[in-house]
Amino acid sequence: ETPTKAKLITKPDVQKMYQPRDKFSHKGTFGHALIVGGSYGKMGAVTLAVKACLRAGAGKTTTYIPESGYTILQTAVPEAMVIAAQESKHLVDFSVSNEYEAIAIGVGLGTDVKTMKGFKKFLETNKTQLVLDADALNLLAQDKELLKLLPKNCVLTPHPGELERLVGKWKNDFDKLKKTVSLSKSIDGVVVIKGAYTITVYHDQYYINSTGNPGMATAGSGDVLTGIITGLIVQGYDVLTAAVFGVYLHGSTGDLAAQQTGYNSLIAGDLIDFLGDGFIHLF
Ligand code: AMP
Ligand code: MG
Repeated sequence: ETPTKAKLITKPDVQKMYQPRDKFSHKGTFGHALIVGGSYGKMGAVTLAVKACLRAGAGKTTTYIPESGYTILQTAVPEAMVIAAQESKHLVDFSVSNEYEAIAIGVGLGTDVKTMKGFKKFLETNKTQLVLDADALNLLAQDKELLKLLPKNCVLTPHPGELERLVGKWKNDFDKLKKTVSLSKSIDGVVVIKGAYTITVYHDQYYINSTGNPGMATAGSGDVLTGIITGLIVQGYDVLTAAVFGVYLHGSTGDLAAQQTGYNSLIAGDLIDFLGDGFIHLF
């Protein structure tokens, strides 16, 4: 299927997307996000995502993680609430309430067979808006029938390896785009092709990002993007706007951070520290 409507996203585009905060707003105005993920040795991914979600402006965030991450999360992110699942090292049971405006799932999750079972059960019952990243994408790739269980308007944020596992090998960049358009149509949702010039695909429309730099090719960078997009969705941005705006902001924040750190020394946590500057420099 051929993509048709392309747009390069630059500052004036995202300025129009930005929703200013009302003077009389309160934390309830800005939604409640849930980040589901983490496993023994990979709690950092959740830590980064939840911090980014808060810095993106979510009113409240909760993480749902294996028991062994409880102290880590509560210590690293006092602003976040934590629900610890019974299993110590990886998630098996995904029964979460439906009080959240959006759920991000997959960062640091792992792909244990028991995790796969729980993930499938979660998809069968979940009705909440979803952002799927990392191991959630790898689980979907392991059993493509699961794609049919996704609610409409999900956001998938694969890096090239995760995308290839989902859509198969592509012959060239145009073929990659065509395969992603098919995926987006089949799930009736948004697919973000991450990399230099990240492309956000929604059906046959695609949006090419103009921000970001090779300093962002560093562990945890994508987890920060997941948090940003989720934080925007719970504040009321529609999923496509949240993805396009989030990708731009993630990149422009990386550009501001790199002015201080250089490309080599940029780490994912810097993206969180500089996210406020990213917002300020939108105008
Ligand atoms: P992940 O591989 O999941 O950690 O995601 C990496 C993140 O960093 C994505 O948002 C990419 O778009 C971004 N990134 C990686 N390499 C580059 C690059 N060379 N230029 C711009 N952004 C990049
Ligand atoms: Mg990633």
